[in-house]
Amino acid sequence: MKRVADPASLFSRRENGPDVYKEFDATELYCPKCNQSMPVRKRLLLILPEGDKYEYLCAHCSESVGTKIDKHDKPLTIIT
Ligand SMILES: [Zn+2]
Repeated sequence: MKRVADPASLFSRRENGPDVYKEFDATELYCPKCNQSMPVRKRLLLILPEGDKYEYLCAHCSESVGTKIDKHDKPLTIIT
């Protein structure tokens, strides 16, 4: 019988803090207000059929510095 990997073990190798998840994310983006690359905070904006849309906010001044669609990894069933 095949043993299913414990999901917790997949996360345990990166324990940099509560905001670190499985996916690589941009942690610094250029902020026009601060005039330099700044650490960003990720905020969920919208849930779209193709994925979740996130907004990146400057951690210092909360300026919106970018958005990203986090595509769902699970394969979609396409009925043709
Ligand atoms: Zn800023």
